[in-house]
Amino acid sequence: MNTLSNRINAIEESATLAMAAKAREFKMKGIDVIGLSLGEPDFKTPQHICDAAKKAIDDGKYFAYPPVAGYQDLREALAAKYQKENNVPYKAENIVVSNGAKQSIANAMLALLNPGDEVIVFSPYWVSYDALVRLTEAIPVIVKGGIESDFKVTAKQLEAAITPKTKAVIFSSPCNPTGSVFSRKELQDIADVVLKHPDLLVIADEIYEHINFTGEQVSIASFPGMFERTITVNGFAKGFAMTGWRVGYIAAPKWIADGCNKVQGQITSANCSIAQRAALAAVTGDVTSTVKMVEEYRKRRDIVYNLLKEIPGIKANYPEGAFYFFPDVSAFYGKSDGTRTIKNGDDLCLFLLEKAHVSLVPGGAFGDEACIRLSYAASESDLREAMKRLKETLATLK
Ligand code: GLU
Repeated sequence: MNTLSNRINAIEESATLAMAAKAREFKMKGIDVIGLSLGEPDFKTPQHICDAAKKAIDDGKYFAYPPVAGYQDLREALAAKYQKENNVPYKAENIVVSNGAKQSIANAMLALLNPGDEVIVFSPYWVSYDALVRLTEAIPVIVKGGIESDFKVTAKQLEAAITPKTKAVIFSSPCNPTGSVFSRKELQDIADVVLKHPDLLVIADEIYEHINFTGEQVSIASFPGMFERTITVNGFAKGFAMTGWRVGYIAAPKWIADGCNKVQGQITSANCSIAQRAALAAVTGDVTSTVKMVEEYRKRRDIVYNLLKEIPGIKANYPEGAFYFFPDVSAFYGKSDGTRTIKNGDDLCLFLLEKAHVSLVPGGAFGDEACIRLSYAASESDLREAMKRLKETLATLK
């Protein structure tokens, strides 16, 4: 029997998490798999953040339900961060803290979308955008940026995709899975198109804002007229190595924040109290650890880029942020190691997991069948070893 809803039957399992689970299975069998599938910092959460969580437990004051939208002091601190770092005048009333940025996006979509609404998804996109749109019975309209344009969708492409049914546009910058970062000018051009359509909203995922090697992080909500049109998504997982703590947030016009608050009140009540105290320490504390982690990512980006260039058949762009490569590997499709033929990215990732013991994610899950995603949030020695294995194993495909 299968009486699951049409909504749930219409979506796939998260490909990033599925691949990580497969790698875990291999590891449990004693196989030395290098996991480059999950976008997960290999660093420990900075000590002062852990200490704040421990103190919160010892204080004994944070065992009850927190307010649905998050503790007032945390929301004030996040609003202050936006004013100071992002030049957006958010106040506490604009912020909703949730169980990770993924829930923040889900809340916003549930609060805003009606069945049949169209959402323009810049592709390559992070796996869950497309699935979450479909979960709300809205329609994802995929607009693709190719490797030749550094995977960036242009304002012109956006304009051409807008219809009377378009409710929102979603993208991430720095981008998961490509590492591309929109420049100020590119974002301004996108904002100019959005502002021509009075009801059009932008869901701007800025979860990788700290891991940006360009020297400038621009929030689209900071442009004149865009405050009212933008849902800014962020979280603590990437910049503060806090994936397991599950703290994300949105900043949005009050009517949207109130809508998200309503969804959240019915679904989870609130985000974990202790994790919120840790998040407060992260947003108000010393950022030396974040700066150090980012420098390390920058170094790894260059190491992996140079090693990728040495693998015949791989075409990679030079990412400017996040911690991913999204190389075009289509040159290997149709090739065989003598026993199996690689038809697509799914086959290639499985082949590389089984033969090279390196886990990656097929690009189809991110909207581009020609590519695979490689996370370089791993130690330098693991990265070097993984690249060696990839090179040797790919060379067996003829
Ligand atoms: N955002 C990370 C990734 O893309 C975490 C996994 C997930 O939630 O999909 O790998």
